[in-house]
Parts: sequence; structure tokens; C-alpha cells
Amino acid sequence: MNIKNYINGNFHNPSSNEWIDNFCPANGDIYGQIPNSSKADVENAYIAAKSAFPSWSRTTLEERSRILLKISEGIEANLDKLAKAESQDNGKPISLAKAIDIPRASSNFRFFANAITQFASESHESVGMNAINYTLRQSIGVVGCISPWNLPLYLFTWKIAPAIAAGNCVVAKPSEVTPMTAYLLGEICNEAGLPKGVLNIVHGLGTSTGQAIIEHPDIKAISFTGGTATGAHIARTAAPMFKKLSLELGGKNPNIIFADCDYDDMLKTTVKSSFANQGQICLCGSRIFVEASIYEKFKTDFVKKVKQLKVGHPSKNDTNIGALVSKPHLEKVMDYIKIAKEENGKILCGGNQVTVTGFENGYYLEPTVIEVPTDECRVNQEEIFGPVVTIMPFKTEDDVLQMANKVKYGLSATLWTNDLKRTMRMSHQIQAGIVWVNTWLMRDLRTPFGGMKASGVGREGGFEALRFFTEPKNVCIKY
Ligand code: NDP
Repeated sequence: MNIKNYINGNFHNPSSNEWIDNFCPANGDIYGQIPNSSKADVENAYIAAKSAFPSWSRTTLEERSRILLKISEGIEANLDKLAKAESQDNGKPISLAKAIDIPRASSNFRFFANAITQFASESHESVGMNAINYTLRQSIGVVGCISPWNLPLYLFTWKIAPAIAAGNCVVAKPSEVTPMTAYLLGEICNEAGLPKGVLNIVHGLGTSTGQAIIEHPDIKAISFTGGTATGAHIARTAAPMFKKLSLELGGKNPNIIFADCDYDDMLKTTVKSSFANQGQICLCGSRIFVEASIYEKFKTDFVKKVKQLKVGHPSKNDTNIGALVSKPHLEKVMDYIKIAKEENGKILCGGNQVTVTGFENGYYLEPTVIEVPTDECRVNQEEIFGPVVTIMPFKTEDDVLQMANKVKYGLSATLWTNDLKRTMRMSHQIQAGIVWVNTWLMRDLRTPFGGMKASGVGREGGFEALRFFTEPKNVCIKY
């Protein structure tokens, strides 16, 4: 199936008529083609967005909210179709796409449909100066949204929904590896009555199509989720053009387990936080630190549970671990397993590619647990972004804090303990944008979302996203 660019409410072939193969990770087959969009296509998308902006930015909040709700409903109504497309494109179990990815994409629109009606700005009476100041929060204009392949529609809509709720028009690019659900979203937007040009979706390579978006002189803000190296490149390109930037980047998140935690709950959740979505979630707890007194017990119990996870075709209901997203990504993850061995890491389970009968060319890998001799080894420091976790024991709170913070990333952290004082102490000191205590990936969409250090700049989520997608202007009136 060939997919097309969605520009000004219509579907277009790329102007160059050049196409890129789209692979199905579950069997390695090419099952479609996507536009290899050029600068000219991005320009067309920009022109459509620019012409839609004056009217959309003046559309009442009630009307914008009504349309966003209709998009949310449209996603819900197409749950099966979208989940199937996401699974086929990404390799994730269809059950996961159905339970998490697609419902969350719908929630993103519903949430921002409501949030925009509650978003307010401040006013300040300047006492003794006979003046009042108020803050106008104005739509920015045309903004760019670029998203990765791991949670395709989930993260794509996490950007687009607040951007258009705030009155902007969008030029968006999903990952070239997983373009299918973004393509299907175009039709849903048309059916929901989103005016032409408010959302434009161009497909293609990051280095050409994405590059044309970030260096476009009149695309005033860029919201990007993806790898840290790409984020640094985007910052280098966009900063001298004084664009507003929100960068949600990589992670290498600690999962810190104290002996006083609720053990069974911790064990069950740790299997999920390690391997959900084949470990391809930026928030996965890929470095597990366990208090020494329960280390041996944890190691035995955890490995036993991990060995029970079923690697299989994403369409099967009993599949826990589907296919990795692409061959190059599978090779990258396998390289890290080799590096772990060279660094004297002990593979406690997994480590091998899996052949799924009938789908021999798919990109399957066993969930892998590596016991590392030191927190400083590469597999403990670098983002692997696959079904691979490291484990090691710790003795004291200070030791584990030091190790938790001794990486370049700072996205999220998970803490398992029932000691309130320790929870408070550690939550203050952990360098991460999000700290989960006795849970993982529990999300309230009102909360600020983002990372510290090499995990990003800025926060999205809730009103933070609406602040990012608006320009504050102070108006001072003397009376
Ligand atoms: P990439 O950085 O490779 O790509 C992300 C997006 O940027 C893709 O759409 C890509 O296009 C595009 N892109 C690549 N180069 C450029 C460029 N020069 N200009 C503009 N756009 C470009 O990341 P991945 O897709 O590999 O995603 C995995 C990464 O995303 C991991 O590091 C993960 O941690 C991170 N991530 C962070 C999250 C967070 O919230 N902090 C959440 C989810 C993932 P194309 O794919 O076509 O190359």
C-alpha cells in the first residue's frame, strides 16, 4: 500500500515521485511505499498551513474544542484498524496497540479539547502605578512537529493536539519507519471537519524532509521527540534562527528497588517497565539497581518471569514481545549484547535472536537480562532502546543515588520503597524529569512531561504544552 502526503486536506504523491520502502518488522517484507518528500513538499505544506492560520487562530475555543473532540472520537471509532496498522508498521503486539497506543492517541485529542477551554493567562495590577498588565497568549503561527517510531500515533498526537488546540497550524512528520497511522489520521481529521491546511503531514527521511521542516525560516517552533543526537542537531540548526524548541530525547532510566518495597507488585511491574513494547519506550527502566539484601532472590525471581515472556508474531493474542522495529535497530541492540559480553557482563537470560515459525525474516529478539560488574560499563551508560536491561546490587541509598545520576540522561526514574522519608529524600535528589514511586508509566496528562540533561529541554503535557505552543505578550495599560 502506498501512502501519501496530507496537505491542505488532500492526499498527494511526493512532487519528485520518489518513494521509500516500508518494511513490516514481523516478517521483514516490504509491504508498501511512502513518499520521499522534498523541500518542495514541505514548502507546499507550509503554504497550506500559512493560509489556514488567520482563520484557525481566530476560531473560537468552543469550536476548536468541538473539532478536536470529533477527531478523538474518530480515532476511537477506528480502534481496530489503527491498532492493526500500528502493529504491522512497528512490530508491537496488536494487543498493546489496542490497549495503549490508540486509546492514548484518542485521549490526547480529548484532553487538549478540554484543556484549551480552561487555559488562562495572568493579569497583574501594578499597585501605585495606575496600571494594569495582562498577558496575551497568542498562537505562534505555523509550527513543526516531528515524532519517533516507538509509539507512533501516541507521540504524534501528543504534539499535534496541543499545537492545533492553541490555534496554530502544523507541518508534521512521523518517523519514516512507522508512517501508517499518521497517514490514516488525515482521513479522520477530514471526517471530523478540521479545516483544510490546519494539519499537514509530510512523509520522508529525517535528514531531508525533517531537515526541511527544522530549517524552514517561517516555521516558528519545533516540537521534537527522538534521539539525543538528532535533538542536538535540531538545536544547532534551529537556535540561530530563534525558533521556540521543545526537545524530548533519550533516556537511560534507573529502576531502584529497596528491600522494604511491596515485592510482588514490584516484580510484576519491573517485568513491564523493562520489556513493554520490546523495551522501546524512552521511559523503560533499563538500569535495575537492587538492594543487596534481596538481590539474589530478585535475580532468581525476575529471570524466571522474564523467561516466561512469549516472543511471537504481533498479531497473536498470547504474544508478550513482538518484533523490534527494524533490521538496523535489531542489529544495534545485538551489538550492545556483544559489547556487554566483552565488558564481562553476564547474560542471565536471553541474548539471542528468535526465529518465529512462518515469519523467519522478522526482527525478533529474546528479552535479555545482563548482570553488570560496574555501573560504568557502556551497556549501563548508553541508551540501547530494546528488550535489554542491566541489573546490579547496591548497598546504601547514597551509593545508588550516585549511580542513578551518573549518566548523561535524566528522563525518568522508578523507586520501589515504602519508606516515606526515603521517598522524599530521593525524589528531590534524582536527576530526572519524572519520578515514579511504587509504580511505572502512570500518566496524568495534566502533569509536566520531559527530561533533564541529555534527555531534553522544555516540558510538554497539560498547560505546559499550551504554554509552549503560544507566545506570551505583556500588555501594560496605564489608567
Ligand atoms: P530519531 O532521532 O532518529 O528520529 C526521530 C524523528 O526525527 C524521526 O521522525 C526522524 O525521521 C526525524 N529526524 C531525523 N533526523 C532529522 C533531522 N536532521 N531533522 C529533522 N528531523 C529528523 O529517533 P528514533 O525515531 O530512532 O526514536 C528513538 C529515540 O527517541 C530514542 O532515543 C528514544 O529515547 C527517543 N524518545 C524519546 C521520548 C521522550 O519523550 N523523551 C519518547 C520516545 C522516544 P526518520 O525516522 O525518518 O529518520
